[in-house]
Amino acid sequence: MRPYSGEKLCGRCFCKSIEEKVRATISKYEMLKHDDKIIIGVSGGKDSVTLLHILTKIERDFPKASLSAVTVDEGIRGYRDEALKIAEKNCQKLDVEHVVVSFKEMYGAELDEIVNKTQQKEDNQLTPCSYCGVLRRKTLNTTAREAGANKLATAHNLDDETQTMILNIIHGDPLRIARVKPVLPIIHPKLIQRVKPLCEVLEREVAFYAHLRKIEFHGVPCPYAGAALRNDVRNMLNRMDRRHAGTKYTIFRSMERLRPALEALGKKEELRECKICSEPTVAEICKPCQMLKELHVL
Ligand SMILES: [Zn+2]
Repeated sequence: MRPYSGEKLCGRCFCKSIEEKVRATISKYEMLKHDDKIIIGVSGGKDSVTLLHILTKIERDFPKASLSAVTVDEGIRGYRDEALKIAEKNCQKLDVEHVVVSFKEMYGAELDEIVNKTQQKEDNQLTPCSYCGVLRRKTLNTTAREAGANKLATAHNLDDETQTMILNIIHGDPLRIARVKPVLPIIHPKLIQRVKPLCEVLEREVAFYAHLRKIEFHGVPCPYAGAALRNDVRNMLNRMDRRHAGTKYTIFRSMERLRPALEALGKKEELRECKICSEPTVAEICKPCQMLKELHVL
């Protein structure tokens, strides 16, 4: 993996180089097999739509593999509807089967309602992103499983991955870094294996690819994102990377090297099934059910 140094490549060669990088990442981490049933989480944003386009291209070389897409409608007024339309349009254009699943149907409440409830709770320390992240992960896993997929591809790019690593340190939870990895292990039959084919591609490379390929995506940031600590970490890393090129790569590489030691330090968690929803969890009740119970949504 080599930082994008601004080499003089024409648009077509640049796009080819990104596609090659994704192919190389997939093969380096053994992310996909020739007969996988892959489902991609497509929010409609730049990263996920770009991943959809690149994987569709790659998948053509593997006739036994299949590709579909899932969009989670969290229920964020004035934001999700437009993104949903764009996700749908891209899937239609690429002839990819598309499933939409909402928080409302999964949990009986939209994210807007959940956020409203958290604001009424005095001791609440969680941001809307914490709720959304936990609930979305469960939604994606359940939908992928019900769709018969054995791989769930998400569009986390190199920036996302390094931000999460730094966030784990800021949260005082360094052992969690071991869980930020390109391919998540299969630890329970109900958990669909997650893979991140863009994990070695910089966010600005994804943006440039989308621009050159004239890919239509939803570019409006989520109205709740401003509250997240992640934004500050993103700005810090961007500043560092501008002043010291390659910072994001070296953080990613360093964590790769540290991971085996961190994994050895961490406790192996036994998974059981949640008493409420029977999804896999380390506790008696899974995190999404706990959150919803506290807010009296369940
Ligand atoms: Zn549960």
